[in-house]
Amino acid sequence: MSTSQIEVAGVLISPDHYIDGRRVGSPETFELRSPIDQRVLGVVSEGLEDHVEAAIESARAAFPAWSLLSAAERKVYLDRFADEIGKRADDFCRVESTDAGLLLSRMRHGVVPRAMLNIRWFANHALDLQNRPIDTEQAHHRVRHDPAGVVVIITPWNSPLLLSTWKLGPALAAGNTCILKPPEWAPLTCSLLADAAQAAGLPPGVLNIVQGTGSRAGAKLVGDPRIARVSFTGSVPTARRIAQAAGANLVPCSLELGGKSPFIVLEDADLDGAAATGALMYRNAGQVCLAGTRFLVHERVADAFVEKMRAHVERLVIGDPREEATEIGPIIHPRQLERVEGFVQRAVETGARVLWGGDRHAFGAQYFQPTMLTNVGQHDEIVQNEVFGPVLTLQTFSDDDSVVALANGTDYGLGGVCYGETDHAIAVADRVRTGFIWINSFGVRDLEAPFGGIKRSGIGREGGDWSFEFFCDVKDVVIPRKPFRASFSHR
Ligand code: NAD
Repeated sequence: MSTSQIEVAGVLISPDHYIDGRRVGSPETFELRSPIDQRVLGVVSEGLEDHVEAAIESARAAFPAWSLLSAAERKVYLDRFADEIGKRADDFCRVESTDAGLLLSRMRHGVVPRAMLNIRWFANHALDLQNRPIDTEQAHHRVRHDPAGVVVIITPWNSPLLLSTWKLGPALAAGNTCILKPPEWAPLTCSLLADAAQAAGLPPGVLNIVQGTGSRAGAKLVGDPRIARVSFTGSVPTARRIAQAAGANLVPCSLELGGKSPFIVLEDADLDGAAATGALMYRNAGQVCLAGTRFLVHERVADAFVEKMRAHVERLVIGDPREEATEIGPIIHPRQLERVEGFVQRAVETGARVLWGGDRHAFGAQYFQPTMLTNVGQHDEIVQNEVFGPVLTLQTFSDDDSVVALANGTDYGLGGVCYGETDHAIAVADRVRTGFIWINSFGVRDLEAPFGGIKRSGIGREGGDWSFEFFCDVKDVVIPRKPFRASFSHR
């Protein structure tokens, strides 16, 4: 069964699954609304047991042929896949902006080029992956990186295209076949990815897309014993459920989770630079895992820093993400807005002081003001828990030991930002327990560098070789240098 296409931002999109190279509808659907104006965009197919079953079987059937291609042969397909994304760049931009509320300008200049690069870069780097020799006196080791099998990829709504391609790129390049479960609050650009895969001639079953909610389609996929890997980006509570389901089958999971990252401003920092970067933490209405959301500012420069950052925040253009000038768009869903608002209200009730913002924004029903709260304690809910909205906190410190203690004083450990004289900032950053930290900068990402968190922020690393290590089975083929003589005393 296949439902008809829906039209979003002038683009025709299938709201159905993509299984074995064909569109497959569902007797059950869910409604999708734009976060910008709550307009109904259409209904999307729910992934039921039959669809999950069909997707797994299709991916299994496609695996032998796809995995036996050389990396160079797969690169031909994947380069064409990236080309097809490029040909429809404008569609991807308009749809994700309407569906997920991402800035059209950022989609155009950042996300879509990066999505193409995610596919191309890993396809290229898989070329030297197959055989990494180790030579010792005893033996020649052909260390192979073989594709693991059927990979399930689960992504969140805050940047669906970017995060889906960041996982699909290495998984497909390594020779796995994939099932992508897009986020139910923003599923449409993943459906466009299926069109691009089909136009690129990817063999049926190499990339399947099962739409649907996490508790149904997602849970079924990750608990299936026939899958080889789960690559997940999303929240901590969902990660626990996924790890439990996959753990029952001993299926390895890569978990990229939330953050409560410190934004440190040392006494010797360039306050103008730090304040300008600080305002970037409101990007995507604060719905960014890697944002520095806990400002830790040296007490001697705190007042000056606050006034400089306030000046930047006052100039932020809040509005419709489809307009070029807009810098801050909507919150994804009414439930997320209520969550954000609840955090702020509870913080204020327990003594937090609002430096700016603190309330809904008049632009639209799903908009919240960029907010900064101070007079907060390290054990307060607002300091310990991820808000995932435009809400930051500010605490002060007096010396390096105390800022390191504050920075490390949550259960999260994703990233961080440290502004200060370079050597000083590096010395402090080295003591902060996170997966990455930016010195006098923010958001600098290279595909070959490791990305991921520690503590509650996740398990595993993505990027470069780390992605391939996860998506591959490593096998050592050992060829002795001298003729082997069997002996019980042989070592
Ligand atoms: P979420 O955990 O609610 O959902 C993420 C995905 O998991 C969705 O596709 C959902 O359908 C699916 N899902 C839900 N329950 C499932 C289950 N039982 N089995 C299988 N799949 C299931 O997260 P969200 O609200 O969509 O995204 C926001 C979260 O993602 C935040 O915590 C944010 O920090 C995190 N995030 C992390 C990174 C990173 O790289 N570390 C990047 C972006 C977002």
